[in-house]
Amino acid sequence: MAWFKKEKTPKEMPTEKKVKIPEGLWIKCNSCKEIIYRKEVDNNHKVCPKCGYHFPISVEERITQLVDEGTFKEFDSHLAPEDPLEPALLRDIRLFWVF
Ligand SMILES: [Zn+2]
Repeated sequence: MAWFKKEKTPKEMPTEKKVKIPEGLWIKCNSCKEIIYRKEVDNNHKVCPKCGYHFPISVEERITQLVDEGTFKEFDSHLAPEDPLEPALLRDIRLFWVF
C-alpha cells in the first residue's frame, strides 16, 4: 500500500507559441549579421546602420534616390549593348592563345 498515490494525468503538449512576424519586416545584414528593421534600412538609404554595409538596390530605387520625384525621363530605352568582338575574332584570339 502506497502512502502517497498520485494519479497520472497525461500532460498536455505545449502548444507552439510562435509570434508570427510578417515576412519582409526584418532584414539580416550580409556583413555584420545583425537583424535590422527593414524600414530603418530603407530610411538610411539601404545602408546598414550598424556597420555601414550597402545593401544591393534596384535601378528604380537608385533613380528615386538621385532625382526629384517625377522628373526622370528615360531616353533611348530601345538601345542595347553590343559585343564588339565578333565570333570570328574570338576564334582568332583563341587560336592565338593555343599556339
Ligand atoms: Zn551590418
